[in-house]
Amino acid sequence: MRNHYESEVGHFEGAICPEVDTFREELEKSVEMVADKKENKILLYCTGGIRCEKASAWFRHHGFSDVNQLHGGIIQYAREVKEQGLTPKFIGKNFVFDERLGERITEDIISECHQCGAPCDDHVNCANDDCHLLFIQCTSCGEKFDNCCTPACQEIFHLPIEEQRRLRKGKIKQDTLSVYRSRLRPDLRKILREGLEKA
Ligand SMILES: [Zn+2]
Ligand SMILES: [Zn+2]
Repeated sequence: MRNHYESEVGHFEGAICPEVDTFREELEKSVEMVADKKENKILLYCTGGIRCEKASAWFRHHGFSDVNQLHGGIIQYAREVKEQGLTPKFIGKNFVFDERLGERITEDIISECHQCGAPCDDHVNCANDDCHLLFIQCTSCGEKFDNCCTPACQEIFHLPIEEQRRLRKGKIKQDTLSVYRSRLRPDLRKILREGLEKA
């Protein structure tokens, strides 16, 4: 019951991870993906257990007979596994919406920097406030692009703050990726290779 950017950096071994941006989409897509498995045992998990309350009812409503959920979510699971000295079945990082943007569960790095492809699972928000795109960026790309997602955002980021405000007010933002904010995920490597125009 997690979104793509959450599953990208960490998931349970063998979990079904739908490519979705929101919980609402997650519900619809996940039921579809296992539509032929109504008699199977289903185990749902999410960050802290809250989404699964809703999701388990949704699955039962759709005729699934053996629906289970991870109570307390990955947060509690990680704590218990640690206390009991067990090997986690959740690999990578647990994405959480605090300033860390993720709690490491195992040393595995299962994702890549969106800009250079190096192994990396550190999420950042683009430093251009008008863009704020959530993406994965390694330390060296962070230095190279001043924590921005593209050279276009980097350019805006370096303008005086008044100029940035003026641009925002005038809605002159075609040159940034702010249009992608929620539903689409830009392919940053492609954009960096070919430029924003052709992306
Ligand atoms: Zn990189
Ligand atoms: Zn940006």
